Amino acid sequence: MLREIVLATHNPHKVVEFQEILGAAAPGIVVLPYDGPEPSEDGTSFGDNALIKARAAARHTDRVALADDSGLAVEVMGGAPGIFSARWAGRAANDERNRELLLEQLADIRDPHRCAQFVCAIAVVVPGRDEKIFLGQWPGKIALTARGDAGFGYDSIFIPDGATITAAEMNPGEKNAHSHRARAVTALHPYIQQLNNRVP
Ligand code: IMP
Repeated sequence: MLREIVLATHNPHKVVEFQEILGAAAPGIVVLPYDGPEPSEDGTSFGDNALIKARAAARHTDRVALADDSGLAVEVMGGAPGIFSARWAGRAANDERNRELLLEQLADIRDPHRCAQFVCAIAVVVPGRDEKIFLGQWPGKIALTARGDAGFGYDSIFIPDGATITAAEMNPGEKNAHSHRARAVTALHPYIQQLNNRVP
């Protein structure tokens, strides 16, 4: 049985979120926050960076470790901001500056060509045994202007396919049911159940 899993994040909200999600796949599992050394995230994709973080946590704790990495990929920009999503407007930037810069860069791009997707990669490392990456994608378009106050990051400029409102105008339940994170977690579920049956 899989009793504990280490989550490579310093974000306490993520610990709570993953505790709920993983508890559903492996009842009784405890999600432990990782407080060891941080690796440099020098990968070239969301999957690479998630794996780098999960490997470091697994190596340091000798336990099954999980890490996620996510961001926004805009088609006409060749997948940017991508792994640079959090610091698109510079290392000292905030969500608002990142959104403003992206809207500015897309100012001449008309609606049909504003396709984008949120991407989430979740990596799981079983020390000495296995490494896996699960991906979730949430396709949509970049809005012409920001709308909505919920959420964070690029939510207020992202209109998911099939919707007329931005992710920041959705209630959290609605976003969480469809988001890239939800989709990556759905892909992860069977593997956690399998691990739960396998890990002694
Ligand atoms: P992280 O890997 O989850 O820390 O996400 C990196 C960056 O991607 C965040 O700082 C946001 O800018 C962006 N991002 C990731 N997920 C979302 C989301 O669900 N909504 C809006 N922005 C997101």
